[in-house]
Amino acid sequence: MRENSSQRQARTLAIITKLRRYYPDAHCALDHTSPLELLVATILSAQCTDERVNIVTKDLFQKYRSARDYAEAKIPDLEKVIKSTGFFRAKAKSLKGMGQKLVAEHDGEVPREMEKLVQLPGVGRKTANVVLGNAFQIASGVVVDTHVKRLSFRLGLTTELQPESVEKDLQKLVPKEAWILFPHWLITHGRQICKARKPVCERCFLEGDCPKRGVKG
Ligand code: SF4
Repeated sequence: MRENSSQRQARTLAIITKLRRYYPDAHCALDHTSPLELLVATILSAQCTDERVNIVTKDLFQKYRSARDYAEAKIPDLEKVIKSTGFFRAKAKSLKGMGQKLVAEHDGEVPREMEKLVQLPGVGRKTANVVLGNAFQIASGVVVDTHVKRLSFRLGLTTELQPESVEKDLQKLVPKEAWILFPHWLITHGRQICKARKPVCERCFLEGDCPKRGVKG
C-alpha cells in the first residue's frame, strides 16, 4: 500500500527517535576550533575522506590562522600542504579567494548568512550548511552528502537524486530542531551499517521502518 505524507512523517519521527538513541555522540567529523577552520576543512573535504582532511589540517591550521593568512598565501605553498586531499589546484585557488573575499567584505570573519557564504569561492550550499550548523548552531538546512543521499533514498524519505531536491524533501519531513544532527546520524549509520555496496540490513535497528528502496536481495 502506498504511504501517504502523514504516515511518512510519522515513520520519519520514529527513525529519528532511534537514530538519536543509537548515536548520541554523533558530531561533525572534521576537526576545527573556529568557524574559519571548519570552512577551510569543509572546502578540502570535497572528494576526500574526513580522516585525510584532519591529517592535512593539522599542519595547515598551524601555518594559516586567519582569513588574511589565506588571502596573502602563495598558491604553490598552499598546494603543497593540501596536495593529498585531491583537486589541490582548485582547492588552493578557492582557499586564497575565500580569504581575500573574507578580508575585503567581511572584516576577515566568516559570515553567518547562507546568501553571503555561498558567494565565497569554493563554497556551495552544502558547505554553507555545514558551517552554519556546526560552527554557529544555525539550522539553515540539511547537509546532504553521499551518505545522506543514499540513506534517505533507501529509507524512502525521498525519491530525488539531486542533493538540493533531497534536501527540500528532508526539510519537509525532519523537524527543524533535528536538521543539524540528522546528517551526522545518517553518516554514522551509513558508515557502520547501511554501507554503499552492501547494507547490513539484518543487523539494522531501522529495518522495521525501512522499505529498503533500491536494495538488492
Ligand atoms: S534496513 Fe537496510 S537499507 Fe534500511 S537503513 Fe537499515 S541497512 Fe539501510
